[in-house]
Amino acid sequence: MSRQSLVSLLCWAPLLLSCGDGGPDGDWVAVGSGPVLLYSHPKVTICPGSAERAGRLTREIADALSVDVPTRLDYFYVPYDPELGSEELRRHCRQPELAIRGCAIYWENRVFASDVLNSHELTHVVANRGLRRVHPLTSEGLAVYFGSLPMVAPLEPFEPSRLLDVEPNEHNAAGVLIGSLLDRFGAARVMEFHRNASMDMTEADFRKLFQRTFGESLEVSTQRLFEAGYQPGVSFPECHGFGPPSPIRRGVPFNRHAQCDEAGVGTADDPKTSELVEVEPGSFRVSVRGGGNANLFSCDSGEFLVSRRHGKGDFSSFGRILDGKYRLETSRGAVSLEFERAALLQKCEPTEPADTSIVPKSHVALQLPRRGPVAVPLRFEEERRLAVSTDSPWKLCDEKCSCELVALDARSVEPGSLYWLLLEDETSVGGWIDLQ
Ligand SMILES: [Zn+2]
Repeated sequence: MSRQSLVSLLCWAPLLLSCGDGGPDGDWVAVGSGPVLLYSHPKVTICPGSAERAGRLTREIADALSVDVPTRLDYFYVPYDPELGSEELRRHCRQPELAIRGCAIYWENRVFASDVLNSHELTHVVANRGLRRVHPLTSEGLAVYFGSLPMVAPLEPFEPSRLLDVEPNEHNAAGVLIGSLLDRFGAARVMEFHRNASMDMTEADFRKLFQRTFGESLEVSTQRLFEAGYQPGVSFPECHGFGPPSPIRRGVPFNRHAQCDEAGVGTADDPKTSELVEVEPGSFRVSVRGGGNANLFSCDSGEFLVSRRHGKGDFSSFGRILDGKYRLETSRGAVSLEFERAALLQKCEPTEPADTSIVPKSHVALQLPRRGPVAVPLRFEEERRLAVSTDSPWKLCDEKCSCELVALDARSVEPGSLYWLLLEDETSVGGWIDLQ
């Protein structure tokens, strides 16, 4: 059977396929009509939406990088086996020691992965098309930026030379750097750099190429990244490719049953729903009930916020959920999520009538009202330095009620933003604040 007719057959119907010339060992069944064909072993059934979703993501990643969409990408799903572990997955990968959840043999447009939607490996195929000896910094950086969650901004300046030999634990740093280069210079420039870089280059040549492409040294780029407090932002595909978000309202249970449907990804054994939700303004705790799993990923920070595994009793989230968009993923059965007003937020509700809100224009000392607990809203018209002249443990909180202790050291406040001065200690008296 010629390659061409095999492809068109796959486009029409799932097919039992024994891969010959250069294909992976074993029998595989394919679903999908391109660009992604999703293969699994015959006993594993894949939800029909999975191949389509992978295809959509592939197009979106290609779009964001201004490159062509591969006409065909073979994605082999090799689930983790409780007895054999990742043994089979590793057998298909060129660097088995690095294949933890998957690998991409990008020059053959192939992905092997232990989940049905591995955007990191998809990115490798899309970004590395036509290349052979890609540099690990750009290759892994792009894959992390577009495909791994969550990226974490570096907490301290990092040695650029550390990035040049990108080991798995440095992938995150590479992703953050590539993310900042994409933001600052655009996809065309970053892709030009990626195409011209090669794993065979000496470090000196790589640095020269960096300087030539971006007009600054690798040192300056990494230093700037840290100084600017770069936040990696949305890790691309996690919140893309969905319809409009479903609204989530406080106190109203949000029920989902994971199943195989057009929107779902997963396998028959582990069906999933994955959708975009939008939490109404406010700040919430989320409780999860039911037997399924629930994961929430913030579309603003990429943060992974709540996780609950395999029906181990009801569960309330750690931390707060702020308003905004999230990707909600549920799997293995029914889940009910309920969003309640977070106790922490209640601290940032005025304990005095709203006239305690102040809008000072010049130097002013303002007497704070009384013993705690007190929450005083403050809004400033101009940038100010603010100090609290008392030993009481006053906290200054931002709009989201994220608080820091303030005392005599003045702190800057932004004009136009809402702040709260918070005294939670009932035995402490009010003090006065000094605005300069
Ligand atoms: Zn990778």
